[in-house]
Amino acid sequence: MIVLQRQIPHPNRVLETLTRRLPENHPDYKRIHDDYQRRTSGYRGEQSMDYYLRFLQPQDCSILHGLTLRYNGNKFQIDTLILFPKFALIIEIKNWTGKLQVTETGDFLRTDLPSEKLLQDPIQQAKHQQWQLQAWLKQRGHALTAVDHLVVLTHQNAIISNASVLHPKIIRHTHFIDTIHQLIAAHANNQPQPNTIATHLKNEHLTPTYNTNNLHTYDIQPPDIITGVHCPACSTTAMRKPNKHWICPHCRQHSRTAHIQAIQDYTLIHGRITTSRQIKDFLRIKHTQHARRIMRSLGAHKQGTTKGATYDLLTSPILQQYLLH
Ligand SMILES: [Zn+2]
Repeated sequence: MIVLQRQIPHPNRVLETLTRRLPENHPDYKRIHDDYQRRTSGYRGEQSMDYYLRFLQPQDCSILHGLTLRYNGNKFQIDTLILFPKFALIIEIKNWTGKLQVTETGDFLRTDLPSEKLLQDPIQQAKHQQWQLQAWLKQRGHALTAVDHLVVLTHQNAIISNASVLHPKIIRHTHFIDTIHQLIAAHANNQPQPNTIATHLKNEHLTPTYNTNNLHTYDIQPPDIITGVHCPACSTTAMRKPNKHWICPHCRQHSRTAHIQAIQDYTLIHGRITTSRQIKDFLRIKHTQHARRIMRSLGAHKQGTTKGATYDLLTSPILQQYLLH
């Protein structure tokens, strides 16, 4: 059974927002757009594994997607973790494509691009996660838990020129179920794992906190961000609100809720804490009073009563629906 559902990773959401909110001629646009494309491809690879995971017996395993834990102050994330009765399996998913060559050190070299690209050894990544997970479990009294790892290549167009030297724990997705049966057989003599581990892991899974201002993270200046409310029909950011509705001056589209997407964008870019003035400027509306009404309608908690009052956007049930699921 699935204990932790897969969610769009937080960096993917931030990058998607930035590609909509940065002008295409911005010097950092390409870097951010490329990073977004790369992460989207990675996420598509993770989603494509769902087909194979359906063949596992749900009563025999617990699946956690995108599990994020903290060990000794450092966060680590596991693409997919499967808890079988006698071992836990870390799955590192790589949606790499193109012509690949395994180097002597276990890294991968992509050779079909104008300049060769080095992709870091996925076995070392998976082993590092395994070490962190084992240490995390030991620290919480699950000392005897057996943990194994597997790297799955999900893109059908990945061609490995020297596949004979491929590490045995790197497999193609088409071999997934066969490999799972082999691993279950290999771990058959282990002690049964306590069935409280799945709940323990789920309870300590870290969700995004939205405490970070991502302009710093991506080295972008606040004036570079395109403000305004996107039109749901033609995508321009010029919607105006003369009355109860937002109206697009380009295509005349009406909307009552177009500002919600804009405030989600604000949260992803600037973080969860804001003022009515900042929201007024971001939505390009005339009056702060109007921004306060919007904050009330979203149910965002207010801190303070004077002009400097702040709102915590992540307390809004409407925004939570998108930002935390
Ligand atoms: Zn429009």
